[in-house]
Amino acid sequence: MSELFRALVVNKDEHGYRAQIQDWSRDQLMDGDVLVRIAHSTVNYKDGLAVSGKGPIIRQFPMIPGIDLAGAVEESSSPDFAVGDKVLLNGYGVGEKHHGGFAQYARLKSEWLIPLPKTLDTEQAMAIGTAGYTAMLCVMALEHNGVTPDKGPVLVTGASGGVGGVAISLLSGLGYQVIASTGRMQESEYLQSLGATEIIDRAELGGPGKPLGKERWAAVVDSVGSQTLANALAHTSYGGAVAACGLAQGMDLPATVAPFILRGVTLAGIDSVMAPREKRILAWDRLAREMDLAKLTSISRLIGLDDLPEAAEAILAGTVRGRLVVDVNL
Ligand code: NDP
Repeated sequence: MSELFRALVVNKDEHGYRAQIQDWSRDQLMDGDVLVRIAHSTVNYKDGLAVSGKGPIIRQFPMIPGIDLAGAVEESSSPDFAVGDKVLLNGYGVGEKHHGGFAQYARLKSEWLIPLPKTLDTEQAMAIGTAGYTAMLCVMALEHNGVTPDKGPVLVTGASGGVGGVAISLLSGLGYQVIASTGRMQESEYLQSLGATEIIDRAELGGPGKPLGKERWAAVVDSVGSQTLANALAHTSYGGAVAACGLAQGMDLPATVAPFILRGVTLAGIDSVMAPREKRILAWDRLAREMDLAKLTSISRLIGLDDLPEAAEAILAGTVRGRLVVDVNL
């Protein structure tokens, strides 16, 4: 039996749904050609659903959740990775159907891993995490659809959350004027420190609206969905683009086709989980060069494995500001 390590394990059986810290052996991990000694992971909205059981994220039990991880290769039979290489992983169903990042070790398929960018350490990479990498995918989608800083401001919804905070920081660094929509007006100073030039109350966008409204922004990064996304579309100016990546308000989209057929607005869907490897590497390369590391520090807070159940409840309640980084050895 190999040496034991700590993991947060989720079980669902006759005793109910529960997440507990357990000692596991490496033999209990699933198949893969690379064993990673994890240094850091992080808490995304999806991890909150997985740990708390409030959303059907986990497909088999027991499961170690955690859709993100960063660490060093400890064993490898892949020609692509050598012992000691620093790596990171986002998505690919890890933490859902394959044991994930809320542990000191993970055994993974090498094709899921990408090299840790040289200018980032594992803690910084996880402060970015899936949320930040998704924010970059949104920025890339807006650029792909012709959005440039001279076209007008960009609205970021769910601004005080993880995707929102990184999106504001990236966009402001690229020279965009950023309008932040938040339900936490008390976080205005924080949002301004990230680069937002205008803060609006999310209540303005959260209820039923008209099919088309005044043209207020050239583009949108939306992590909220539902009524908010419908209103964001209705106020996007002619030829603009909206990147939709989330559903914090809801999965529905009570919109009309008016913004598309009368203003030529493009709605770009963003998926981080199965995004192709080349796109991931490009996104991480840009994050490594363009993310302001001082802002990243102000966005993130460090927790340990024992703090995860409480952190899961907090992210679902919408009370986490920015990003939570998990030091799996704390
Ligand atoms: P966070 O919980 O960190 O942020 C979500 C933010 O949305 C909250 O902080 C809050 O911001 C706002 N919000 C919460 N509830 C509501 C509500 N009822 N109505 C309006 N706004 C609300 O989550 P993440 O940033 O990690 O993820 C955001 C979304 O993006 C999630 O839905 C997640 O599942 C999705 N996502 C999708 C990915 C993909 O691949 N497509 C990848 C990563 C995330 P505020 O307090 O400022 O209003």
